[in-house]
Amino acid sequence: MGRNCNDPGRILRDSKELKMKTCYILAAWLVLVPFFLQAQPEPAFEDIFMDKTMRIDYFHIGDANSEIVTVDHIYQYGIWAGSRVKLIDRFNNGLYYVKIFDPESGRLVYSRGFNSYFGEYQTSRPAAEGIKMTYHESALIPCPRKIIRFSLEKRDRKNKLHEIFSSSVAYNEFYPKGIEPLEPNITAFSDPGNLKWKDLLDKDIALPTPWEKAAYDELDYAWQKQRAKMNDRIAELKRTGAPAEEINKAEQEYSRKDREHSQKVDEFLAKSRYRGKVGVYEGAGYSSQGLYRPMVDCIMFSKGSKPFCKVCEASIRKVIQHYLE
Ligand SMILES: [Zn+2]
Repeated sequence: MGRNCNDPGRILRDSKELKMKTCYILAAWLVLVPFFLQAQPEPAFEDIFMDKTMRIDYFHIGDANSEIVTVDHIYQYGIWAGSRVKLIDRFNNGLYYVKIFDPESGRLVYSRGFNSYFGEYQTSRPAAEGIKMTYHESALIPCPRKIIRFSLEKRDRKNKLHEIFSSSVAYNEFYPKGIEPLEPNITAFSDPGNLKWKDLLDKDIALPTPWEKAAYDELDYAWQKQRAKMNDRIAELKRTGAPAEEINKAEQEYSRKDREHSQKVDEFLAKSRYRGKVGVYEGAGYSSQGLYRPMVDCIMFSKGSKPFCKVCEASIRKVIQHYLE
């Protein structure tokens, strides 16, 4: 991919050295002073992350004396199955560390130590002879709500962590900015004259269409927060070996709340003044900003029993027609 790493040959090391040194000393201090460790709050999961997993695939290339990293693909899927409470790895284990920073405050919001095959390869004879190898690696992190800084750090011989790679990453990275998504029902709307569903647009509709987005986002955010809390509780009950009955009750409550929320969303969207009209509505493809969908509601946008929007329907017809011919 290389959008944010257009100079992959350079190892981003020196500029961060001082800062990482400070971080390292601080980290050591945190481990040594338990009282302070308790006093230092973990970042609040819901403020930074969604209940989804982001997978960052990257290539790790080099020999015994050199290594570079280039981002390959970024995916988003499922729920986040890891801890929502312990976001920072304070064990200080592993040759490498993946670290996620909030670029605005510079705050560390997630970290995990790990070892890799590339790290092992570096100790081999071919690597010492300068034969470069490429390894495909993946970092699994909770999916951030906004752009974050993805950083890889490596330990040197003195056991100090140094940043070897850094790139800003957005959760809608699989729809890179400026590139029109391939999906027939999602647009970046950067070329209004060539809107892919222009033949289906309602007459005289404003583009982009000013729907009730702020209120919808608020509703969605409140639910994501509540959902994460319930998921945490269920995970906690399972972890601590709570009675099956109690776990069952918590899971049922979750399902009930989930249905209630879907109903609320349905009602909200059904009341929209743009209901049934084909326009260009911001909020699509898991992204609240920068991507647009053709109608206020569609089975591809919110769950429940509801029809496809007119654009989805038309493209499904096209596919079926293609196979009939
Ligand atoms: Zn649709």
